[in-house]
Amino acid sequence: MDSPKNTLMHERVRFGRTGLMVTRLAFGGIPIQRLSRQEGVRLVADVLDLGINFIDTAHGYGHSEELVGEAMRTVSRGSLVIATKSPAADRKGFLDDLDESLRRLRTDYIDIFQFHGVSSREKMAAVMGPGGAQEGMEEGIRAGKIRFPGFSSHSLPVAAGMIRTGRFDAVQVPFNFVDCQAAEELIPLARRADLGIIAMKPLGGGLLDDARLCFRFLRQYPDLVPDPGIETLPQLREIIDVMESGGPLSAEEIKRIEHYRERLGREWCHRCDYCQPCPRNIPISTVLVAKSFAVRLTVERFTSIVEAPLKAAESCEECRQCVERCPYHLDIPVLLKKQRGIWERYRSTGTWE
Ligand code: SF4
Ligand code: SF4
Repeated sequence: MDSPKNTLMHERVRFGRTGLMVTRLAFGGIPIQRLSRQEGVRLVADVLDLGINFIDTAHGYGHSEELVGEAMRTVSRGSLVIATKSPAADRKGFLDDLDESLRRLRTDYIDIFQFHGVSSREKMAAVMGPGGAQEGMEEGIRAGKIRFPGFSSHSLPVAAGMIRTGRFDAVQVPFNFVDCQAAEELIPLARRADLGIIAMKPLGGGLLDDARLCFRFLRQYPDLVPDPGIETLPQLREIIDVMESGGPLSAEEIKRIEHYRERLGREWCHRCDYCQPCPRNIPISTVLVAKSFAVRLTVERFTSIVEAPLKAAESCEECRQCVERCPYHLDIPVLLKKQRGIWERYRSTGTWE
């Protein structure tokens, strides 16, 4: 294919103490699960052809790992940095996921294997405790199946705790111009520990519709590697062009970012789950970010994830215990009702707006 020789695609940045040299953009493997096998493999092959050498996927992203594995066959394995994730908290589940990821990715090693979603103290204790997934991680490293251990998290304090264990070489947290609290303490901590840092959800998990502005913001952090999930090559080319465009944010761009923050801040759920526990067992964050699943997953997968939580949201008794705990002061009972209304409309129209 016609492959423009962008400067950015020739640049490599050191991914923390792993020493791996990666492109300033990674390819995020979530949305390709919506594509057919043929379309998905073609897209990943085109992304590699464009020069991106860093792919981040997960055991739980439908057939994403398989598509990546098939597309990788056309390039030298040593030229790529492959990151994937397991949600398992126990040793055996983790090792089973590792072997399954290796099979799907058609490789005998994973460059960066991550614990997926360590966002609560409970999960961290299970992963790092006796019989936990950390034991599997160490076995995987000894067996040569994993080069570097990492984790992803939606909770900044839990992520900080994981970094402080000293066991990880890579961290992945949400980072975009609305979700940017990590810049205060977490990113400096990760830098001091010399970890590779992946900026998860650079487009707000599909909720920020101005890709240009998102990447103008992110290019201010050259040591963070964003992993946008894209479904077409033109989307990626646009991002590359933005990352290559020079100059700091203009006053007009800063104003637009402030406007987004003002408009979305009262409804933006950061998925930290500090609002839990809910006496009615409502998975609050899943309900509040339902649109993010709608725009990135297949209809079947989206429905399987959000249908039960949205049903559970009907039982909210408006006790407001969650509101007191939410550090962002979201009016959760009101937002749950709003999401229920959107869900009802979605069921009759098929669009989530
Ligand atoms: S509602 Fe608030 S506390 Fe709960 S997950 Fe979202 S941002 Fe965090
Ligand atoms: S207000 Fe509703 S969602 Fe919040 S804790 Fe009470 S029952 Fe749960």
